[in-house]
Amino acid sequence: MERDGYRVCIVGATGVVGREMISVLQERDFPVKDLKLLASERTAGTTLAFKGENLKVQVLQEDSFKGMDIGLFSAGGAVSQKYAPIASEEGCVVIDNTSAFRMDPEVPLVVPEVNPHAIADYNHKGIIANPNCSTIQMVVVLKPIHDVATIRRVVVSTYQSVSGTGKEAIRELEKQTLAIFNHQEVKSEVYPHRIAFNCLPHIDVFSENGYTKEEIKMINETKKIMEDESIGITATTVRVPVFYGHSESVNIETTKKITPDEVRDILSRAPGVIVVDDPKKNEYPLAVYAAGKDETFVGRIREDKSIEKGINMWIVSDNIRKGAALNAVQIAEVLLKHYW
Ligand code: NAP
Repeated sequence: MERDGYRVCIVGATGVVGREMISVLQERDFPVKDLKLLASERTAGTTLAFKGENLKVQVLQEDSFKGMDIGLFSAGGAVSQKYAPIASEEGCVVIDNTSAFRMDPEVPLVVPEVNPHAIADYNHKGIIANPNCSTIQMVVVLKPIHDVATIRRVVVSTYQSVSGTGKEAIRELEKQTLAIFNHQEVKSEVYPHRIAFNCLPHIDVFSENGYTKEEIKMINETKKIMEDESIGITATTVRVPVFYGHSESVNIETTKKITPDEVRDILSRAPGVIVVDDPKKNEYPLAVYAAGKDETFVGRIREDKSIEKGINMWIVSDNIRKGAALNAVQIAEVLLKHYW
Protein backbone atom coordinates (compact mmCIF):
# COMPACT_ATOMS: atom_id res chain seq x y z
CA MET A 1 0.00 0.00 0.00
CA GLU A 2 1.31 3.43 -0.95
CA ARG A 3 1.93 5.61 2.13
CA ASP A 4 1.06 9.27 2.25
CA GLY A 5 4.51 10.21 3.45
CA TYR A 6 7.13 9.42 6.08
CA ARG A 7 7.99 10.89 9.47
CA VAL A 8 11.61 11.98 9.20
CA CYS A 9 13.91 13.36 11.88
CA ILE A 10 17.31 14.96 11.43
CA VAL A 11 19.74 14.55 14.32
CA GLY A 12 22.26 17.40 14.11
CA ALA A 13 19.86 19.54 12.07
CA THR A 14 21.70 22.80 12.83
CA GLY A 15 25.07 21.54 11.57
CA VAL A 16 26.59 21.95 8.13
CA VAL A 17 25.37 18.50 7.05
CA GLY A 18 22.01 18.71 8.84
CA ARG A 19 21.08 22.00 7.15
CA GLU A 20 22.00 20.55 3.77
CA MET A 21 19.82 17.52 4.53
CA ILE A 22 16.84 19.85 4.99
CA SER A 23 17.58 21.46 1.60
CA VAL A 24 18.07 18.12 -0.18
CA LEU A 25 14.81 16.67 1.23
CA GLN A 26 13.03 19.77 -0.07
CA GLU A 27 14.73 19.91 -3.48
CA ARG A 28 14.12 16.22 -4.20
CA ASP A 29 10.56 16.41 -2.93
CA PHE A 30 11.16 13.48 -0.62
CA PRO A 31 7.78 12.27 0.70
CA VAL A 32 8.00 13.87 4.15
CA LYS A 33 4.80 13.82 6.20
CA ASP A 34 6.42 15.27 9.28
CA LEU A 35 9.95 16.66 9.80
CA LYS A 36 11.48 16.81 13.28
CA LEU A 37 14.69 18.79 13.76
CA LEU A 38 16.93 17.68 16.62
CA ALA A 39 20.13 19.18 18.00
CA SER A 40 21.69 20.06 21.36
CA GLU A 41 20.54 22.51 24.04
CA ARG A 42 22.85 25.08 22.43
CA THR A 43 20.50 25.65 19.48
CA ALA A 44 17.18 24.31 20.79
CA GLY A 45 14.34 26.73 20.07
CA THR A 46 15.92 28.24 16.95
CA THR A 47 13.98 27.77 13.73
CA LEU A 48 14.92 26.42 10.33
CA ALA A 49 12.78 26.66 7.19
CA PHE A 50 11.39 23.63 5.38
CA LYS A 51 8.91 23.99 2.50
CA GLY A 52 7.90 27.48 3.59
CA GLU A 53 7.37 26.53 7.22
CA ASN A 54 9.61 27.54 10.13
CA LEU A 55 10.31 24.45 12.20
CA LYS A 56 11.56 24.70 15.77
CA VAL A 57 14.73 22.79 16.66
CA GLN A 58 14.18 20.42 19.58
CA VAL A 59 16.65 18.96 22.06
CA LEU A 60 17.65 15.39 21.19
CA GLN A 61 16.31 13.03 23.83
CA GLU A 62 15.81 9.31 24.25
CA ASP A 63 12.11 9.60 23.44
CA SER A 64 12.68 11.75 20.32
CA PHE A 65 12.16 8.79 17.96
CA LYS A 66 8.68 7.64 18.94
CA GLY A 67 6.55 7.35 15.78
CA MET A 68 9.45 8.33 13.49
CA ASP A 69 10.10 6.29 10.30
CA ILE A 70 13.53 7.56 9.21
CA GLY A 71 16.33 9.19 11.20
CA LEU A 72 19.07 11.05 9.34
CA PHE A 73 21.93 11.27 11.84
CA SER A 74 24.82 13.76 11.62
CA ALA A 75 25.72 14.90 15.12
CA GLY A 76 29.00 13.05 15.62
CA GLY A 77 29.97 9.48 16.44
CA ALA A 78 29.22 9.60 20.19
CA VAL A 79 25.65 10.81 19.58
CA SER A 80 25.08 8.06 17.00
CA GLN A 81 26.57 5.38 19.27
CA LYS A 82 24.08 6.31 21.97
CA TYR A 83 20.94 7.24 20.03
CA ALA A 84 20.98 5.15 16.81
CA PRO A 85 20.21 1.86 18.66
CA ILE A 86 17.43 3.64 20.60
CA ALA A 87 15.94 4.95 17.36
CA SER A 88 16.09 1.61 15.54
CA GLU A 89 14.55 -0.10 18.57
CA GLU A 90 11.60 2.32 18.12
CA GLY A 91 11.26 1.24 14.47
CA CYS A 92 12.96 4.36 13.09
CA VAL A 93 15.48 3.31 10.40
CA VAL A 94 18.71 5.22 10.95
CA ILE A 95 20.85 6.52 8.10
CA ASP A 96 24.03 7.44 9.91
CA ASN A 97 26.58 9.94 8.59
CA THR A 98 29.17 9.31 11.28
CA SER A 99 31.85 6.61 11.39
CA ALA A 100 30.20 4.90 14.39
CA PHE A 101 28.79 1.85 12.57
CA ARG A 102 30.42 1.91 9.12
CA MET A 103 32.64 -1.11 9.60
CA ASP A 104 30.08 -3.13 11.59
CA PRO A 105 29.59 -6.29 9.49
CA GLU A 106 25.84 -6.17 10.16
CA VAL A 107 25.50 -2.57 8.97
CA PRO A 108 25.36 -1.89 5.22
CA LEU A 109 27.67 0.87 4.03
CA VAL A 110 26.01 2.33 0.98
CA VAL A 111 26.64 4.54 -2.01
CA PRO A 112 23.45 4.18 -4.11
CA GLU A 113 25.29 4.34 -7.46
CA VAL A 114 27.64 1.55 -6.34
CA ASN A 115 26.02 -0.97 -3.96
CA PRO A 116 22.31 -0.21 -3.48
CA HIS A 117 21.67 -3.97 -3.06
CA ALA A 118 23.42 -3.79 0.34
CA ILE A 119 20.37 -1.96 1.69
CA ALA A 120 18.48 -5.26 1.62
CA ASP A 121 20.50 -6.13 4.73
CA TYR A 122 19.11 -3.19 6.68
CA ASN A 123 16.81 -5.45 8.66
CA HIS A 124 19.75 -6.69 10.70
CA LYS A 125 19.99 -3.62 12.86
CA GLY A 126 17.80 -0.91 11.35
CA ILE A 127 20.95 1.14 10.77
CA ILE A 128 22.46 1.98 7.38
CA ALA A 129 25.80 3.79 7.29
CA ASN A 130 26.69 6.64 4.98
CA PRO A 131 30.40 6.41 4.06
CA ASN A 132 33.09 9.00 4.66
CA CYS A 133 32.88 11.94 2.23
CA SER A 134 36.26 11.30 0.57
CA THR A 135 35.40 7.65 0.06
CA ILE A 136 32.02 8.31 -1.56
CA GLN A 137 33.34 10.50 -4.37
CA MET A 138 36.19 8.09 -5.05
CA VAL A 139 34.07 4.92 -5.29
CA VAL A 140 31.46 6.37 -7.65
CA VAL A 141 34.34 6.81 -10.10
CA LEU A 142 36.31 3.64 -9.29
CA LYS A 143 33.46 1.10 -9.36
CA PRO A 144 32.59 1.42 -13.09
CA ILE A 145 36.31 1.10 -13.94
CA HIS A 146 36.70 -1.85 -11.57
CA ASP A 147 33.80 -3.65 -13.27
CA VAL A 148 35.64 -3.48 -16.61
CA ALA A 149 39.36 -3.62 -15.79
CA THR A 150 39.62 -4.89 -12.15
CA ILE A 151 41.52 -2.44 -9.99
CA ARG A 152 44.45 -4.01 -8.13
CA ARG A 153 45.82 -0.97 -6.35
CA VAL A 154 44.80 2.62 -5.54
CA VAL A 155 47.05 5.48 -4.41
CA VAL A 156 45.00 8.49 -3.33
CA SER A 157 45.96 11.91 -1.98
CA THR A 158 43.12 14.19 -0.89
CA TYR A 159 42.73 17.97 -0.76
CA GLN A 160 39.80 18.31 1.65
CA SER A 161 37.83 21.47 2.39
CA VAL A 162 37.24 22.80 5.90
CA SER A 163 33.45 22.30 5.68
CA GLY A 164 34.27 18.60 6.13
CA THR A 165 35.07 19.40 9.76
CA GLY A 166 31.81 21.28 10.39
CA LYS A 167 30.58 24.79 11.08
CA GLU A 168 33.32 25.75 13.59
CA ALA A 169 36.03 24.97 11.01
CA ILE A 170 34.35 27.14 8.36
CA ARG A 171 34.41 29.98 10.89
CA GLU A 172 38.05 29.29 11.75
CA LEU A 173 39.17 29.66 8.12
CA GLU A 174 37.12 32.88 7.79
CA LYS A 175 38.49 34.35 11.03
CA GLN A 176 42.11 33.40 10.32
CA THR A 177 41.97 34.83 6.79
CA LEU A 178 40.57 38.14 8.10
CA ALA A 179 43.13 38.21 10.94
CA ILE A 180 46.00 37.73 8.48
CA PHE A 181 44.72 40.50 6.16
CA ASN A 182 44.36 42.80 9.17
CA HIS A 183 47.80 41.94 10.65
CA GLN A 184 46.16 40.50 13.76
CA GLU A 185 47.06 37.47 15.82
CA VAL A 186 45.96 34.17 14.22
CA LYS A 187 44.28 31.74 16.62
CA SER A 188 43.92 28.00 15.86
CA GLU A 189 41.13 26.38 17.86
CA VAL A 190 39.68 23.69 15.58
CA TYR A 191 42.89 22.53 13.87
CA PRO A 192 46.28 22.04 15.55
CA HIS A 193 47.89 24.55 13.15
CA ARG A 194 46.84 27.53 11.06
CA ILE A 195 44.68 26.40 8.11
CA ALA A 196 44.52 29.76 6.29
CA PHE A 197 47.07 29.80 3.43
CA ASN A 198 48.35 26.41 4.60
CA CYS A 199 47.89 22.64 4.05
CA LEU A 200 47.65 20.18 6.93
CA PRO A 201 48.60 16.53 6.23
CA HIS A 202 46.45 15.55 9.17
CA ILE A 203 42.72 14.68 9.16
CA ASP A 204 41.22 12.99 12.23
CA VAL A 205 43.58 11.46 14.78
CA PHE A 206 46.82 9.58 14.15
CA SER A 207 46.93 5.85 14.82
CA GLU A 208 49.89 3.71 15.90
CA ASN A 209 50.84 2.81 12.32
CA GLY A 210 51.37 6.45 11.28
CA TYR A 211 48.18 6.69 9.24
CA THR A 212 45.38 9.02 10.29
CA LYS A 213 41.93 7.60 10.98
CA GLU A 214 40.63 9.42 7.89
CA GLU A 215 43.17 7.52 5.77
CA ILE A 216 42.24 4.21 7.38
CA LYS A 217 38.54 4.98 6.79
CA MET A 218 39.21 5.52 3.08
CA ILE A 219 41.06 2.20 2.84
CA ASN A 220 38.58 0.04 4.78
CA GLU A 221 35.38 1.67 3.53
CA THR A 222 36.42 1.45 -0.14
CA LYS A 223 36.95 -2.32 0.16
CA LYS A 224 33.62 -2.78 1.95
CA ILE A 225 31.58 -0.73 -0.57
CA MET A 226 33.32 -2.24 -3.62
CA GLU A 227 32.95 -5.68 -2.00
CA ASP A 228 36.55 -6.57 -2.80
CA GLU A 229 39.08 -7.08 -0.01
CA SER A 230 41.87 -7.76 -2.51
CA ILE A 231 42.26 -4.15 -3.69
CA GLY A 232 45.45 -2.59 -2.30
CA ILE A 233 44.81 1.01 -1.19
CA THR A 234 47.03 3.66 0.33
CA ALA A 235 45.87 7.17 1.22
CA THR A 236 47.26 10.52 2.33
CA THR A 237 44.53 12.90 3.47
CA VAL A 238 45.22 16.63 3.54
CA ARG A 239 43.13 19.56 4.78
CA VAL A 240 43.38 22.61 2.52
CA PRO A 241 42.06 26.17 2.87
CA VAL A 242 39.02 25.63 0.64
CA PHE A 243 35.50 26.14 2.03
CA TYR A 244 33.47 23.58 0.06
CA GLY A 245 34.43 20.63 -2.16
CA HIS A 246 36.99 17.88 -1.74
CA SER A 247 39.55 17.18 -4.51
CA GLU A 248 41.50 13.96 -4.92
CA SER A 249 44.49 12.84 -6.95
CA VAL A 250 43.84 9.16 -7.63
CA ASN A 251 46.26 6.70 -9.23
CA ILE A 252 45.03 3.22 -10.08
CA GLU A 253 46.71 0.05 -11.30
CA THR A 254 44.41 -2.35 -13.13
CA THR A 255 44.62 -6.04 -13.98
CA LYS A 256 43.38 -5.50 -17.52
CA LYS A 257 44.97 -2.77 -19.64
CA ILE A 258 42.63 0.20 -20.09
CA THR A 259 43.32 3.40 -22.03
CA PRO A 260 42.43 6.95 -20.94
CA ASP A 261 39.86 7.11 -23.78
CA GLU A 262 38.22 3.93 -22.53
CA VAL A 263 38.14 5.33 -19.00
CA ARG A 264 36.52 8.56 -20.29
CA ASP A 265 33.97 6.50 -22.22
CA ILE A 266 33.09 4.31 -19.18
CA LEU A 267 32.83 7.30 -16.86
CA SER A 268 30.76 9.36 -19.30
CA ARG A 269 28.05 6.70 -18.85
CA ALA A 270 28.51 6.21 -15.08
CA PRO A 271 25.63 7.37 -12.85
CA GLY A 272 26.35 10.51 -10.84
CA VAL A 273 29.65 11.18 -12.65
CA ILE A 274 30.54 13.99 -15.07
CA VAL A 275 33.77 13.92 -17.07
CA VAL A 276 35.41 17.37 -17.35
CA ASP A 277 38.62 16.71 -19.20
CA ASP A 278 39.82 19.16 -21.81
CA PRO A 279 43.22 20.39 -20.59
CA LYS A 280 43.82 22.36 -23.82
CA LYS A 281 40.92 24.60 -22.81
CA ASN A 282 42.01 24.57 -19.14
CA GLU A 283 38.98 22.43 -18.35
CA TYR A 284 39.25 20.08 -15.39
CA PRO A 285 37.23 19.58 -12.20
CA LEU A 286 37.47 22.36 -9.62
CA ALA A 287 36.14 22.57 -6.07
CA VAL A 288 34.61 26.01 -6.69
CA TYR A 289 32.49 24.61 -9.55
CA ALA A 290 31.61 21.34 -7.82
CA ALA A 291 30.31 23.17 -4.72
CA GLY A 292 26.51 23.08 -4.62
CA LYS A 293 26.28 20.39 -7.32
CA ASP A 294 25.15 16.79 -6.94
CA GLU A 295 27.57 15.05 -9.29
CA THR A 296 31.15 13.90 -8.87
CA PHE A 297 33.48 15.44 -11.45
CA VAL A 298 36.50 13.67 -12.93
CA GLY A 299 39.25 14.84 -15.23
CA ARG A 300 43.03 14.90 -15.87
CA ILE A 301 42.54 11.28 -16.98
CA ARG A 302 45.89 10.06 -18.31
CA GLU A 303 48.10 7.03 -18.49
CA ASP A 304 50.56 6.39 -15.68
CA LYS A 305 53.58 5.51 -17.78
CA SER A 306 55.62 4.39 -14.74
CA ILE A 307 53.67 1.11 -14.65
CA GLU A 308 52.25 -1.22 -17.30
CA LYS A 309 48.54 -0.73 -16.53
CA GLY A 310 48.04 2.53 -14.70
CA ILE A 311 45.74 5.57 -14.86
CA ASN A 312 45.84 8.93 -13.06
CA MET A 313 42.73 11.02 -12.36
CA TRP A 314 41.54 14.11 -10.51
CA ILE A 315 38.19 13.66 -8.74
CA VAL A 316 36.17 16.51 -7.19
CA SER A 317 32.80 16.61 -5.44
CA ASP A 318 30.80 18.67 -2.92
CA ASN A 319 31.58 16.93 0.37
CA ILE A 320 28.43 18.25 2.05
CA ARG A 321 26.12 17.11 -0.74
CA LYS A 322 27.33 13.85 -2.37
CA GLY A 323 29.77 13.36 0.50
CA ALA A 324 27.04 13.52 3.14
CA ALA A 325 23.50 14.94 2.85
CA LEU A 326 22.65 13.93 -0.72
CA ASN A 327 24.03 10.41 -0.36
CA ALA A 328 21.99 9.95 2.85
CA VAL A 329 18.75 11.07 1.18
CA GLN A 330 19.52 8.88 -1.87
CA ILE A 331 19.86 5.91 0.53
CA ALA A 332 16.44 6.79 1.97
CA GLU A 333 15.01 6.92 -1.58
CA VAL A 334 16.32 3.44 -2.40
CA LEU A 335 14.98 2.19 0.89
CA LEU A 336 11.48 3.49 0.10
CA LYS A 337 11.49 2.25 -3.48
CA HIS A 338 12.67 -1.30 -2.95
CA TYR A 339 12.60 -2.31 0.66
CA TRP A 340 9.74 -0.55 2.40
P1 NAP B 1 28.70 20.53 12.64
O1 NAP B 1 28.49 21.56 11.61
O2 NAP B 1 29.70 20.79 13.72
O3 NAP B 1 27.29 20.21 13.31
C1 NAP B 1 27.15 19.31 14.37
C2 NAP B 1 25.68 19.07 14.65
O4 NAP B 1 25.55 18.08 15.67
C3 NAP B 1 24.94 20.31 15.16
O5 NAP B 1 23.60 20.27 14.74
C4 NAP B 1 25.02 20.10 16.68
O6 NAP B 1 24.00 20.77 17.38
C5 NAP B 1 24.79 18.61 16.74
N1 NAP B 1 25.24 18.05 18.02
C6 NAP B 1 26.51 18.00 18.48
N2 NAP B 1 26.52 17.40 19.71
C7 NAP B 1 25.24 17.07 20.00
C8 NAP B 1 24.60 16.44 21.10
N3 NAP B 1 25.29 16.02 22.16
N4 NAP B 1 23.25 16.25 21.05
C9 NAP B 1 22.54 16.69 19.99
N5 NAP B 1 23.08 17.29 18.90
C10 NAP B 1 24.43 17.48 18.92
O7 NAP B 1 29.16 19.13 12.02
P2 NAP B 1 28.82 18.52 10.55
O8 NAP B 1 29.89 18.88 9.60
O9 NAP B 1 27.41 18.82 10.21
O10 NAP B 1 29.05 16.96 10.82
C11 NAP B 1 28.22 16.21 11.65
C12 NAP B 1 28.57 14.73 11.55
O11 NAP B 1 28.50 14.31 10.19
C13 NAP B 1 29.97 14.36 12.02
O12 NAP B 1 29.92 13.10 12.65
C14 NAP B 1 30.76 14.25 10.76
O13 NAP B 1 31.83 13.37 10.87
C15 NAP B 1 29.72 13.70 9.82
N6 NAP B 1 30.04 14.01 8.42
C16 NAP B 1 30.39 15.25 8.05
C17 NAP B 1 30.71 15.48 6.70
C18 NAP B 1 31.13 16.81 6.23
O14 NAP B 1 31.63 16.87 5.09
N7 NAP B 1 30.97 17.88 7.01
C19 NAP B 1 30.64 14.47 5.78
C20 NAP B 1 30.25 13.22 6.19
C21 NAP B 1 29.96 13.02 7.51
P3 NAP B 1 24.20 22.29 17.95
O15 NAP B 1 24.13 23.18 16.74
O16 NAP B 1 23.06 22.42 18.87
O17 NAP B 1 25.54 22.33 18.60
